[in-house]
Amino acid sequence: YFISFEGGDGVGKSTQSRLLGDWLAELTGREVVLTREPGGTSLGAELRAAVLHGEDMDSRTEALLYAADRAHHVASLVKPALERGAIVITDRYLDSSVAYQAGGRALDAKAVERLSLWAVDGLLPRVTVLLDLDPVVAEARRGTRDDSPDRLERAGDEFHRRTREAFLARAAADPARWVVLDADAPVEDIQAQIRVDVAARLGL
Ligand code: C5P
Repeated sequence: YFISFEGGDGVGKSTQSRLLGDWLAELTGREVVLTREPGGTSLGAELRAAVLHGEDMDSRTEALLYAADRAHHVASLVKPALERGAIVITDRYLDSSVAYQAGGRALDAKAVERLSLWAVDGLLPRVTVLLDLDPVVAEARRGTRDDSPDRLERAGDEFHRRTREAFLARAAADPARWVVLDADAPVEDIQAQIRVDVAARLGL
């Protein structure tokens, strides 16, 4: 099974994916691989550093670097893990590109989606969990853990609002794949709901 977590910065994706991974490992007895984008591989870590902390770049360059990170991530880590029967849970996947590079940066959404699908040779998650949160609340929660680039900080509230709307629109368009949860609830309550929804989608 391939599962992705999506949402803005500071909504709890990494905590929730870790808790779900522990539970799925226990429940199924299978290997669980937790990974993330950008930066799930060592080439990915270099691309992550370049895109988040490197020199200024335009939106297309940024989109291509995220796509390169994703292509390598899928080819070298995600696909081999799925082929050996592991459950793969990724903290961000191609929907982040559509939300940030198209919704946020205003590139063409269809073009970003085509590029992303090409990069991963069509591999989509069985389930995508969107942790939805008002970006103003998320920013307060994020505090100092943040390593988001100056470029993104400069992008401002409007950028994060558009990104959130893009995630919600994508989720609404494909309810069979997406689970949308309010991330402004206690961690345990969110996790309990994720388990119910993921188990139902996967037939566990
Ligand atoms: O989720 P994580 O903290 O690893 O993301 C790193 C940064 O990259 C975040 O600030 C996120 O908003 C940004 N990002 C982006 N476009 C993507 C993926 C992440 O702008 N496709």
